Amino acid sequence: MDLEAHAEFIATTEHSPNGYSSHYSREALKNRQLTSSKVGETPEEEAANARVENLIRQLLIELGENPEREGLNLTPSRVRRSLAFLTDGYVKDPQEVLGTALFEEHYDEMVLVRDIEMYSMCEHHMLPFYGKCHIAYIPNGKIVGLSKLPRIVDLYSRRLQVQERLTTQIAEAINEVLHPIGVGVVTEAYHLCMMMRGVQKQNSMTLASCMLGDFKKDQKTRSEFLNLIQHVRGN
Ligand SMILES: [Zn+2]
Repeated sequence: MDLEAHAEFIATTEHSPNGYSSHYSREALKNRQLTSSKVGETPEEEAANARVENLIRQLLIELGENPEREGLNLTPSRVRRSLAFLTDGYVKDPQEVLGTALFEEHYDEMVLVRDIEMYSMCEHHMLPFYGKCHIAYIPNGKIVGLSKLPRIVDLYSRRLQVQERLTTQIAEAINEVLHPIGVGVVTEAYHLCMMMRGVQKQNSMTLASCMLGDFKKDQKTRSEFLNLIQHVRGN
């Protein structure tokens, strides 16, 4: 796949002017009581957990299953905890993840973290999509602890997502917290909703990218980034 052409295309499309990064987590924080613990910590959480488990039990019945049989009787609780975990990105704050590990540093070359594992769920089918995320930025006096970049990927992956928005949110969060000279994010993912059902294209990988600042304006910077990740992909 021609990454360069793809990035060119994306770079010319405007990203959301009001920003994606913190909007929903605050909204969701107000409503969400679901937890991944075995026992709810507050009466509200316990009630929310019980509601979700009942929904899963009901779903099993609607699928033609017997939720009381041995293999399934703990399934509603397992699914509830698993879903709570897989969507806990809603209640995490990107400022908290990135902002606590900023360091003053006068380094002005590209910082690249590639092949970050990424697991998310598509919002259309609630099926997983998974793959890799590559993040690069050019610092503007501040760098971030490298372990924080995979955590920001998790934060936006653990929601119901579309890959394009996930990619943009990661780039915008880094942009908002670090104010770098530029940031580039490329994601490559396999979508189980395409592979297991529908068109059943087993090997089609979807690419998305978001380029901000110098990565958007400067062809050379963008090419350097895309070459670096392509080099790895060829191995
Ligand atoms: Zn889907």
